[in-house]
Amino acid sequence: MDVSIQAQILNLLQDLQDELELTYLFIAHDLRVVRHISDRIAVMYLGLIVELAAGLEIYDEPLHPYTQALLSAVPWTDPRLARKHQRIILEGEVSSAVNPPSGCRFHPRCPIAEDRCQNESPQLREVQPGHWVACHLA
Ligand code: SF4
Repeated sequence: MDVSIQAQILNLLQDLQDELELTYLFIAHDLRVVRHISDRIAVMYLGLIVELAAGLEIYDEPLHPYTQALLSAVPWTDPRLARKHQRIILEGEVSSAVNPPSGCRFHPRCPIAEDRCQNESPQLREVQPGHWVACHLA
């Protein structure tokens, strides 16, 4: 979908939301669009939520290494966000969601993985009010 059509649809969604007091579950890969439309954001990796927080907080202070890598891949036009999210290149391949890795599902690609990450699955826990992360080191 081209950018102008995309903007029209997003505006329509927001108008309907205001008018009808709707709640949306909006699933997308374009993190700039997600930022524009979302009050709360959940980041998923291989079928599990790895981070959940208010929209702007995810962008200002991502705590999960996967969220940090995702945000670093966005071509930000805002220089502040571009500076904040320096490029992180993840090594390796995305694992199978059908047969995911043991422990933390992100451990084969995580740049800060420890030994326990291979065996212990991190629970989603609230590390700051309203900010949830599934990482042993967050
Ligand atoms: S639990 Fe370990 S492997 Fe998973 S994101 Fe955190 S540091 Fe990385």
